Amino acid sequence: MRKKIVILWLLTGMLACAPTNPQKIADPLQKAPQKVFAKNIILMIGDGMGLGQITAGMYSNNNRLNLEQFPVVGLQKTHSYNHLITDSAAGATAIACGVKTYNAAIGVDKDTLPVQSILEEASEKGLRTGMIATSTIVHATPAAFVAHRPLRNMYEYIADDFLDSGIDLFIGGGLKYFNQQRKGDKSLLPKFQQKGFMISGIANDDLLDLNLSSTRKLAYFTSNDTPIPAASGRDYLPTASYIAAKFLDRGNKNGFFLMIEGSQIDWGGHANDTKYIISEVKDFDEAIGKVLDFAKKDKETLVIVTADHETGGFAINPKSKMNEINGAFTDSYHTATMVPVFAYGPGAELFNGIYENTAIHTKMRMALGFDEVETGTTTETRN
Ligand code: MG
Ligand code: ZN
Repeated sequence: MRKKIVILWLLTGMLACAPTNPQKIADPLQKAPQKVFAKNIILMIGDGMGLGQITAGMYSNNNRLNLEQFPVVGLQKTHSYNHLITDSAAGATAIACGVKTYNAAIGVDKDTLPVQSILEEASEKGLRTGMIATSTIVHATPAAFVAHRPLRNMYEYIADDFLDSGIDLFIGGGLKYFNQQRKGDKSLLPKFQQKGFMISGIANDDLLDLNLSSTRKLAYFTSNDTPIPAASGRDYLPTASYIAAKFLDRGNKNGFFLMIEGSQIDWGGHANDTKYIISEVKDFDEAIGKVLDFAKKDKETLVIVTADHETGGFAINPKSKMNEINGAFTDSYHTATMVPVFAYGPGAELFNGIYENTAIHTKMRMALGFDEVETGTTTETRN
């Protein structure tokens, strides 16, 4: 933003010296650069979703993905503080909190000190907040948005941190980290109820049958442990994405921040299983379609779709045909290939170009007006 203003200033200086009728030249400074704040952000993370995974999903879906509707595409560098190859914990912490940290860190910096996440900051500033995942909700990617722990496998401690995060809605697996199955028999669920949460899921109600008008906070557990793959019948992500956006938006002037993770694209990569990758990308893309439906009607929502890293060094090899992908892998772990960032809605243009994963945090703060934004003559912030 600052660079743009300097360029405009230089430009007007140059034009002033040129032997032209000044009245015919529009003064770019007369029109301050337009300040575009997004009221809401929906950040969608396809875990392990590199270009190969996206392409395989597209060519397995008759050459069509909802992702093609995004007008802005950028690339992010995923390396962590201590490794060229990141893990999901460090990758999510970079996006959520804006710091490069060591692999396995959850919402803490390289010295294990806690760093506030965009979700926590949004909640503090009066926005409503939520998360949805197709893993357990305490798994690395969602964890980095609400928890501050030195190691990603501290699942019960991460569950504790949900209580203080200010989050209004979460949907995902992992009930066993919240109820009486916890070590020492100390269920957290009564504490969530005291905070006004409606608690549901699993054997109880279908998400669509819940009477959500009677509550402002929702904890919905889709499974006791890890949710099943989409190919085995898991289908809640698209519906949950739309319901969550409507739920957080209802009667809310301040806006919301919602993180949605397609968690299992990564697991398909680790398993070197092309079909697993494709079914998870298709499921995630269906959720992207639902989110775009919401954003198109709402017009004040910035939608960002990206990944934390690529998994498997996945390639689409010769002998592949439309709807018949011959996938190949270089490894069963993550790779350091840059991953794409897609943006739609107010502030989308911020996501053009090539940048570090930590810049996504900065750009989201700018889009929400959390950062001071210079507009040429005045400095304005979101109130
Ligand atoms: Mg994940
Ligand atoms: Zn992984």
